Amino acid sequence: MPRSAPNIWWVRRDLRLHDNPALLAATGEHLTGEAGKHPVLAVFVIDDALMGPAGKPRHDYLMTSLARLDAAIGGSLLLVHGTPENVLPQLATTIGAAGVHIATDYGPYGSQRDERVAEALGDVELVRSGSPYAVAPGRVTKDDGSPYKVYTPFGRAWEKHGWRDAAPFPAHVTWVDPDDVDLGRLVRRDLPDPAEGHPRAGEEAARKRWEEFRTDAVAEYGTERDRPDHEGTSQLSAALKWGELHPRTLLADLARKRTDGAAVFRSELAWREFYADVLWQDPASARESLRDVVADDVWIGGDDERHALDAWAAGRTGYPFVDAGMRQLAETGWMHNRVRMVVASFLVKDLHVRWQAGARHFMLHLVDGDLASNSHNWQWVAGTGTDAAPFFRIFNPVTQGVKFDPQGDYVRRWVPELRGVTGKAVHEPWKLDAQPAGYPERMIDHKQEREVTLEAYGRR
Ligand SMILES: Cc1cc2nc3c(=O)[nH]c(=O)nc-3n(C[C@H](O)[C@H](O)[C@H](O)COP(=O)(O)OP(=O)(O)OC[C@H]3O[C@@H](n4cnc5c(N)ncnc54)[C@H](O)[C@@H]3O)c2cc1C
Repeated sequence: MPRSAPNIWWVRRDLRLHDNPALLAATGEHLTGEAGKHPVLAVFVIDDALMGPAGKPRHDYLMTSLARLDAAIGGSLLLVHGTPENVLPQLATTIGAAGVHIATDYGPYGSQRDERVAEALGDVELVRSGSPYAVAPGRVTKDDGSPYKVYTPFGRAWEKHGWRDAAPFPAHVTWVDPDDVDLGRLVRRDLPDPAEGHPRAGEEAARKRWEEFRTDAVAEYGTERDRPDHEGTSQLSAALKWGELHPRTLLADLARKRTDGAAVFRSELAWREFYADVLWQDPASARESLRDVVADDVWIGGDDERHALDAWAAGRTGYPFVDAGMRQLAETGWMHNRVRMVVASFLVKDLHVRWQAGARHFMLHLVDGDLASNSHNWQWVAGTGTDAAPFFRIFNPVTQGVKFDPQGDYVRRWVPELRGVTGKAVHEPWKLDAQPAGYPERMIDHKQEREVTLEAYGRR
């Protein structure tokens, strides 16, 4: 039998072998039933346009994950630096590829990039199979075909729409050895040691984490998810962001669980899909407020803004719950959701800095930084988004701390200067006999700044 032409599997946000329709399509197995019909060249392109807004934590996480994917496919991943519209046509010509297989990217940059690549590939087809979502953006609509603007009915319609079964694991893949490919002027990059790097990165670690979470913790998720002092959430956001796990895999496993916790977890996955849909419908919403709700003169600027942002980013605002969150972010590249809401509210409504500045900082530091989830959660907190918390609802950083970190353990874990303070008193160090050494005074008075915000909101 003549050897079939190879295909390229262009890896982007699907760093996994399980439940991967694009990989399966690249092998040809799904159409012909013949395992390993087409040899597959696995390629990841380091594109500066995408890596620019990502800081070191996300870059390092990605590199570790790529190294682990490479190890899982016997060292067959080709890592190239360049623009995809140059790299892919060159590779396709060199190896005589029949097609380039991808999962559809619905982000503003990714969808335009893919159009350019499709055009540059000429006769070689860019084949799209699947997406990073259980239900692709644009599929869940109202009866008249218009998009949902509010989460709750979207969530209901999303569940009703349902999703496909997981794609089967390919029976066999004949990988093209990148060492045998003449790269011409293309710049190949080395991968780090897969044994090092972020402990949670990679498909195997993600599957293990999911296995543990769904066995031990998902039943309690509904009550535990708001407690940053406990490990009550899955911490799978980076795995979902990079596609080390597909949400369809999680949803299939959850279908057998009848607990409230499983239902709440499913609804969180629906939030992720809702925000992807909102971004796809309105790409400008990544950077622009969907609604202007507050008078413009409330925002500070210039040096004042820089000072405020620096203190916030360094976890030195003098509000322990906020500072603990920002330090958790700086040290680990991840922050608990409850605390993300509180620190975001603090920046926008107490320090009067526009949400976009906070969102940029998050994108630089989060390992799970995701344009849709990040921008729209920021807009939710700021009160400018679809379905957003009203602008006048302002998180109190002290009562939030006392409620969700009742013994102060979370604060003491991340703010060493406060480790000598016992119990919930840690949330209000200004009430202690003496300010703990090295910990800053409150940079603002929450009560006062809340009034400023309410007044600015009232003028709109
Ligand atoms: C200001 C702000 C910025 C955020 N930025 C991001 C971001 O860049 N990337 C990101 O993945 N999430 C973001 N979130 C949402 C949420 O905080 C994280 O998804 C969650 O904390 C990740 O932890 P986990 O995996 O343990 O979540 P779990 O509680 O275990 O939830 C499971 C999964 O559901 C999804 N999910 C949960 N909550 C949300 C939500 N509110 N919106 C969208 N998806 C959700 C995530 O994929 C998450 O991994 C942001 C939230 C806020 C308030």
